Amino acid sequence: MRHRIAVIGAGPAGLTFARVLHRHGHPVTVLERDPARDARPPGGTLDLHEGLGQSALEKAGLLAEFQSLSRPEGQAMRILDADGTVLRDWQPRPGDRANPEIDRGQLRDLLLGPMDVQWGRGVTEVVPGTRDGVLVHFADGRQETFDLVVGADGAWSRVRPAVSSATPHYTGVTFVETSLDDVDTRHPDLARLIGDGSMAVYGVNRALVAQRNGGGHVKVYAQFRVPLDWHTNPDRHTNPDRQMGPNRRAGLDWADVEAVRSSLLAMFDGWAAPVLDLLRHGTAFVHRPLYVLPVSHTWAHVPGVTLLGDAAHLMPPLGAGANLAMLEGAELAESVAAASAPGEPDEVVRAFEERMWARADRWVKITTAGLERLVSPDPTEAIALFDEVQPS
Ligand SMILES: Cc1cc2nc3c(=O)[nH]c(=O)nc-3n(C[C@H](O)[C@H](O)[C@H](O)COP(=O)(O)OP(=O)(O)OC[C@H]3O[C@@H](n4cnc5c(N)ncnc54)[C@H](O)[C@@H]3O)c2cc1C
Repeated sequence: MRHRIAVIGAGPAGLTFARVLHRHGHPVTVLERDPARDARPPGGTLDLHEGLGQSALEKAGLLAEFQSLSRPEGQAMRILDADGTVLRDWQPRPGDRANPEIDRGQLRDLLLGPMDVQWGRGVTEVVPGTRDGVLVHFADGRQETFDLVVGADGAWSRVRPAVSSATPHYTGVTFVETSLDDVDTRHPDLARLIGDGSMAVYGVNRALVAQRNGGGHVKVYAQFRVPLDWHTNPDRHTNPDRQMGPNRRAGLDWADVEAVRSSLLAMFDGWAAPVLDLLRHGTAFVHRPLYVLPVSHTWAHVPGVTLLGDAAHLMPPLGAGANLAMLEGAELAESVAAASAPGEPDEVVRAFEERMWARADRWVKITTAGLERLVSPDPTEAIALFDEVQPS
């Protein structure tokens, strides 16, 4: 039976869906807004869990390659207090492959393999129920029709309005991301401080987290609980005496690296110098306010359209989003590939949605509660959370 399938978005969800369908010999059209594979930096490192992301890779026939590329030593986790004292230092046991890390760029290339992606095909709208099937409109004015459209287009999905009116809302927590390169040679003290995996420092409504990526690259996330518009008057959060006076600074210009750095250093004033070096040596800064979809987001099934990953259940970034996105992609692809009778693909999509919602709901609740404790008025909550989840 000929079934025209399109997946919108070549992130972890869309690529896993397409790769598993491809493995089963089923054609699929992958439509991605980015103009090219390397059009933007691929982002930081991801830990892929046994039973979630690793299961998806197994279904794609890529687990062995993942194991040779990934970094089990990246599972190390160290917690410091704001004075720089090491409070916890977990090292993975030999052979522990529960959550090894992989750089996003490596994962993307692994999933892409021999598949074709149509780059530069930003979708603007999806209209189900037309005579020819599901109509997809593109930013360049073109349109195409498919039997099944899978929205794997992330937080600000343009497919989602075809099934749901939900929109993401701000969590109250903002990340500002920066990076360090060649950390072992250029910043050996910081390399020792971070260790082989991640390092985190928790304060009152603030945290600094550093994560080793491959090749001596480190991503640093300054995290804080602030109103969405905090950057329009940064002194309000760092220097209340100045915020109303004649010396009040204007809003932050994200391209002005030194101005952003000085605002962040003021935000973390009083923290140990070696910890603040993470900000002092950071290169560019990227503003990432955290948004989420409502808890327990579901929708009335719409024939011919579904969602995967962040498009379906955007949640706080606590190590689950990409894992779920990939597992969902793999499971949906297996179900669709196994469906043969007319009408059956829609039945399998409906059944898949029920499974996805139930599993995602558990993780949305876990990560929402986790974010409350990690960026919280009581820093001991963050440590207690790690004590609960780290193997003793
Ligand atoms: C700082 C941070 C750290 C994280 N760490 C982890 C972690 O360690 N482990 C983990 O599991 N998760 C982590 N996450 C969450 C994870 O990044 C996401 O859950 C995951 O990327 C979701 O995958 P996705 O494929 O659903 O969406 P995305 O990764 O957002 O991919 C969507 C794709 O769709 C494309 N697209 C968007 N709009 C359109 C359009 N209109 N038309 C066509 N294409 C479009 C985009 O360009 C993109 O390629 C983290 C998130 C953040 C912000």
